[in-house]
Amino acid sequence: MEVATTTTIWTDCLEIIKLNVDEQSFNTWFKPIVPVRNENDVLTIQVPSQFFYEWLEENYVPVLKKAVRQVLGENGRLEYSVVVDSGNQQNPPVMVNYPNGHGIKKNIQPLNGNGPSADYSPFAYKALDPRTVNSRLNPNYLFDNFVEGDCNRLARSAGVAVAKKPGTTSFNPLMLYGGVGVGKTHLIQAIGNEIKKNMPDKVVLYVDQNDFTNQFLNALQNLKMQEFQNFYLQVDLLILDDVQFLAGREKTQEIFFNIFNQLHQSGKQIIMTSDCPPRDLKGFQERLLSRFKWGLTADLQEPDFETKLAIINNKMQSDGIEIPKEVAEYLAYSVDTNLRDMEGVLNSLLFHATLLKRNIDLDLAKEVLKNIIKEIQSDVSVDYIQKTVADFFKVGTEQMKGKVKKREIVIPRQTAMYFCKRYTQLTLALIGENFGGRDHSTVIHALESVEDMMKVDSNFKNSVDELTKKFKSRMSA
Ligand code: ADP
Ligand code: MG
Repeated sequence: MEVATTTTIWTDCLEIIKLNVDEQSFNTWFKPIVPVRNENDVLTIQVPSQFFYEWLEENYVPVLKKAVRQVLGENGRLEYSVVVDSGNQQNPPVMVNYPNGHGIKKNIQPLNGNGPSADYSPFAYKALDPRTVNSRLNPNYLFDNFVEGDCNRLARSAGVAVAKKPGTTSFNPLMLYGGVGVGKTHLIQAIGNEIKKNMPDKVVLYVDQNDFTNQFLNALQNLKMQEFQNFYLQVDLLILDDVQFLAGREKTQEIFFNIFNQLHQSGKQIIMTSDCPPRDLKGFQERLLSRFKWGLTADLQEPDFETKLAIINNKMQSDGIEIPKEVAEYLAYSVDTNLRDMEGVLNSLLFHATLLKRNIDLDLAKEVLKNIIKEIQSDVSVDYIQKTVADFFKVGTEQMKGKVKKREIVIPRQTAMYFCKRYTQLTLALIGENFGGRDHSTVIHALESVEDMMKVDSNFKNSVDELTKKFKSRMSA
């Protein structure tokens, strides 16, 4: 009986919480919670780890409080039962109880300190063997095939210096930034490959932000935080690509901050890239940004004509293909988006030449280019969404970021946010950022309003459907 009521109470709370957080957060942070008991208006919920508990306290106290009060009444309170050791067949799990919203976490023993959680980690400390650890490097990205030009000279020579003496130059961290396809990934992987070749006893690790975030969430859900950190702390060269994607991810940043500090202190080399200079990174903790500037920050620019030409010739030569001078020049001149697109064009040319046995001439180059350029332009970006939605509702694009609260402006603005959530990878906070610096709760509100309006206003629903068609056709163009 008791169990059933506790469960229903929690189910009711979940219903309310669901309305207040996005789906991913809901699945990550609320689904794993187990209600344990309800006595005297105190609902106790069990969370899988201390880290989990801290995260909830830091990010979701208002949501939790609201839910508990609505379900249990004004006196309703919440208590956590935190699993600090998941136990095994012989030993029962160890739990610690904390009341909610008391800022109590400062008194909690660190997981690896003394106290009840001292033997928290059920995972033995595993030393990494540099010869067998998977560095996740692409062996094709080397200094040898990285063409030097004015656009990348500083970054490249910093990279060479770091590859010679990782961790001991003042270039730590080495932070490379620049737009899409300027060669950041190629260059930092070249550094990694060089170090692996010359110093086989060093543990080299390349991760992109996706790997890092996923490993982190995975560790969190499976109580392997300690193992996760131990792993990273044994790395001699840590390469983290595209850090801008950590924007707004507070806890991931915090863990990265810890790892960064410890590695840096013990003289390990850190290399990062981002799509803009550190000072322009939004959604980052200040202390982390200031760390990024400790070492050397160098930019890579769009390559000039000569460099592009050299890159084209270099790539075709290494694949054993002759490419007429006029074709190389035509491509260097015409592909003005970025080098990643250039790579697509070159690969496509290779494909035609080798498998379809066609001659590489200007006609073929033009044909290939036409197809690729169409793809390049079919991206659905925030700018594109804002402009398309503004045009559709016949309001100015600048209104998307403006302050006007009139209904005829607010609706297009909210609709554009809604499409950004659907069609871009941006976090809620970053969507808000792109709409004149609004915060993530404003974006959540916008998403809810749009969904509500679609239910009650069929005209509006038609507009959304029509816009959806536009975006879809752009994506598949
Ligand atoms: P980013 O990480 O800056 O977006 P990438 O490193 O992925 O760019 O580069 C895109 C493509 O262009 C890759 O295939 C890379 O090998 C090639 N590329 C970029 N810069 C150079 C260069 N200087 N020399 C040779 N290839 C390059
Ligand atoms: Mg890259």
